[in-house]
Amino acid sequence: MTGSPLERLLVRLAEVSDLTKAATLLFWDQRVKMPPGGSEARAEALATVSRFAQERFIDDEVGRLLEELRGLEESSDYDSFEASLVRTTRRQYEKAARVAPELVGEMRRAAALGLAAWGPAREQSEFEQLRPQLETLLELRHQYVECFPQPEETYDVLLDDYEPLMKTAEVREVFAELKQELVPLIEEIRAGGDVDDSFLDAEFDPETQRRLALEILRAFGYSDDEWRLDETAHPFMTTPGAGDIRLTTNFRPNDLTALFATMHEFGHGVYEWGVDRSFARTPLHAGVSLAVHESQSRTWENLVGRSRGFWRWFYPRLQEEFSAQLGSVDEESFYRAANKVQPSLIRIDADEATYNLHIILRFELEQDLIEGRLGVADLPGAWNARMEEYLGVEVPDDARGVLQDMHWAGGSLGYFPTYALGNVISVQIWERALEDLGDLDERFERGSFGDLREWLHEHLYVLGAKFTPQETIERVTGSRIDAKPYLRYLRRKLAPQLA
Ligand code: ZN
Repeated sequence: MTGSPLERLLVRLAEVSDLTKAATLLFWDQRVKMPPGGSEARAEALATVSRFAQERFIDDEVGRLLEELRGLEESSDYDSFEASLVRTTRRQYEKAARVAPELVGEMRRAAALGLAAWGPAREQSEFEQLRPQLETLLELRHQYVECFPQPEETYDVLLDDYEPLMKTAEVREVFAELKQELVPLIEEIRAGGDVDDSFLDAEFDPETQRRLALEILRAFGYSDDEWRLDETAHPFMTTPGAGDIRLTTNFRPNDLTALFATMHEFGHGVYEWGVDRSFARTPLHAGVSLAVHESQSRTWENLVGRSRGFWRWFYPRLQEEFSAQLGSVDEESFYRAANKVQPSLIRIDADEATYNLHIILRFELEQDLIEGRLGVADLPGAWNARMEEYLGVEVPDDARGVLQDMHWAGGSLGYFPTYALGNVISVQIWERALEDLGDLDERFERGSFGDLREWLHEHLYVLGAKFTPQETIERVTGSRIDAKPYLRYLRRKLAPQLA
């Protein structure tokens, strides 16, 4: 191949990106459009395309090019596209090249089997049906860890797949602070009596919800030129390429939670949408980590979508469309219901405050499992004991306990902490935006979200994966990850619910 080493690397990375994006589209289609009969053929097609992408990436030629580019990297400005590209690609390459393709294949197969067993196990609420698969997955994770130099803690290796370069000790420190404040705060809220949200337990026409969700999205920055909104059982966002952002959501006929889920996915989408387009078809054209990604979904779902200003703007529209259900409910009552804190069994339905304890529980159990302090067979008991301790909730069965999430069955160990880290980071970034922009509530009341979106675009989204997650957070907020702003925010917001 001709051209400079940088040009040759870019051609190679573009091919890898195209293959990865083709797999993304196969995955999107599988979840959104494909009839069930296509699942076996699709699994094969996905495996083949993903393997091609992986092989193309860990090829020795990429390693040679990265070596040749050391000089260019060192002589270029740290912030430049060239230095960032070589740095980020090298880190991903060195990691990927350590793991034998056979092990990757075995992990993928075990994950597919785990997910296949998870569905029926959850339906029948029988942990025992999933236990053998979890034991296999755990054993494979140990083999995976062995591919890397001895870490300070085994869990560091798992975490790094989702939150590059973050250490378990650092997460533990942030979570300890959250736990120390949140457990008593939630207890206090429970003693404060119930917020009435019974009016949300009604029929809400899904078609109308869809129309309203699109009105909200359009005000946020969604456009038909570059976005789609489809329906799936489990909402997600994905992007098969620059200028092509796909959101999915699930409008349920008996509640309005989909409005919040849709705003959540918008936050993931707008982050990807805002990455510098000149990075397209390179590893830099993506959000930097799952926690930073989640900080943006939480920003649009909670900091915007559960704010007073937002509902001052949108509640009249909601009332107009659902006058039978909400005609006699005033804005204040609706706002309070949308922010109600109540310990519950299911993570994905949890409120802003209790959500974090669901995550901390999973983070602790994951460490116990991988460090061998807890056997898989003892997982349900350990789960139930901690639910009682942290949330005061008794778990009636495994379906509503240890079997509720698909992550572990799909082999994702080390993923959960990024959700709560995202909450923490969201408020750190939010406070910086407020310093620059002043009162946002007043703008939201007018249905104006452009200033916030532009600020986030300019300070965060545009960076993509140029820097490490920690560098990115420090550049945007001026400090390392810190739980205090988030805890302050929760205390202030939830004060009316305290005893
Ligand atoms: Zn999310």
